Amino acid sequence: MIQEIQRNLTEGRLDPESYVEAYYVRIERREAKVRAFITLRPMEEVIEEVKRSVERLRSGRHGRLEGILIAVKDNISTMGIRTTCGSKMLETYVPPFDATVIERIRREGGIIVGKTNMDEFAMGSTTETSYFGPTRNPWDLSRTPGGSSGGSGAALAAHFAELALGSDTGGSIRSPAAYNAVLGLKPSYGTVSRYGLIAYANSLEQIGPMARNANDLEVLYSVIAGPDERDATTVSAVLEKKEVRLNGLRLGVLDDMMEVSEKPVKSVVNDVLNKLSSEGSELKEVKLGYLDYALPAYYIIAMSEASSNLARYDGVRYGYSSGEEGLWTDVYSINRGAGFGWEVKRRIMLGSFMLSAGYYEMYYIKALKIRRLIYDNIASILKSVDLILSPTMPILPPKIGDVINDPIRLFAMDVNTVVANLAGVPAISVPAGFHNGLPVGLQAIGPYLSDYSLISFARELEKITGYRDLTAPE
Ligand code: GLN
Repeated sequence: MIQEIQRNLTEGRLDPESYVEAYYVRIERREAKVRAFITLRPMEEVIEEVKRSVERLRSGRHGRLEGILIAVKDNISTMGIRTTCGSKMLETYVPPFDATVIERIRREGGIIVGKTNMDEFAMGSTTETSYFGPTRNPWDLSRTPGGSSGGSGAALAAHFAELALGSDTGGSIRSPAAYNAVLGLKPSYGTVSRYGLIAYANSLEQIGPMARNANDLEVLYSVIAGPDERDATTVSAVLEKKEVRLNGLRLGVLDDMMEVSEKPVKSVVNDVLNKLSSEGSELKEVKLGYLDYALPAYYIIAMSEASSNLARYDGVRYGYSSGEEGLWTDVYSINRGAGFGWEVKRRIMLGSFMLSAGYYEMYYIKALKIRRLIYDNIASILKSVDLILSPTMPILPPKIGDVINDPIRLFAMDVNTVVANLAGVPAISVPAGFHNGLPVGLQAIGPYLSDYSLISFARELEKITGYRDLTAPE
């Protein structure tokens, strides 16, 4: 907990060495199995930074994240720290600049502990498409931690860091949040700068905060959010901090998302819904409609944007080079063939196909129309309720190797999460409970720019479930 840590550091109850060592001891014990990090910073460097933070804390002039250890997804550019995007293509890339979110975190005294594992170019839902091998779920090492920000989720569940950054194109923050019993927010589109985020699908994705409790999540979000002149899609609207009260809160439960979820997930979510209703929340069944179309629309748009974004990695301008020489078309294809993994290649091929003359109208334009309809439906549901609830993930965390070779099942995991990305509205995943020791997440979707209300809702929910600062048992 940020406040408590900062108080302890300031008052000397915690010295920088033993404070940092506690994290590294846990990492030492569990990381060989969990594999949350692609790059871990040396402990001595982190201790030095904490020492400087302590000086600032004691001087009374300190940042909001002073001394706090943060794990950062490896598609967010960090100056001087390797940023691989989970790919061989960028295996040795060290960015010469910081992403805006990193600049803001450093300015507030936050300390990067390492870069976390992820699906290659954020394409996947289980962290198994990573070039560096899969991350395992600390709650059950035979299972995936979700994805694509699986390393960030696992790092929090194993308490390797206090906070984490993820990115969410179609659920990549919320899926690992749900599967690791932590919190994750996919912010309203445009509230967090994407400058320095290695692009997958620009119109859908946002960097967002992940944390072990709602208060910490709010602090990290407030640090990274805000307009940025280097990202023209950021908005200048000021987000209101509104406190939500459960009593009288109108909650729409998405019938169609409950329907597609497996039994144990439904039953954990239903228990939470009952608790909310005893707190005086008004629950009402609502229907999104078009859910069958949401997934194909999402994947068409995401792959189309990806095929264009990833064109720059040819080993000449950017990325892995085989060292071959010859005709540029041959060299490009050798470099790209060796640098990208199979999931990325599948998506580049499908995306290029869907944007090609003759198919553009049939796929891409149709997908944009579905996107609009989904936005309209969410807006219309939100006229009669304050928030929309659903299970975050329709299934429990899958076993490693289970869904990865079946793209249809892999894609289907995102059915409940992609909707918020298509509509640009904020969505949060909060720990809802457990089934046989496996975490289940509750998703809350709110109106555009209601991010702080979602966090406040999470805080209220925490009070009734008691699920905060959970660490997976060893
Ligand atoms: N699983 C989805 C995909 O592969 C979402 C990934 C993400 O949000 N980055 O596109």
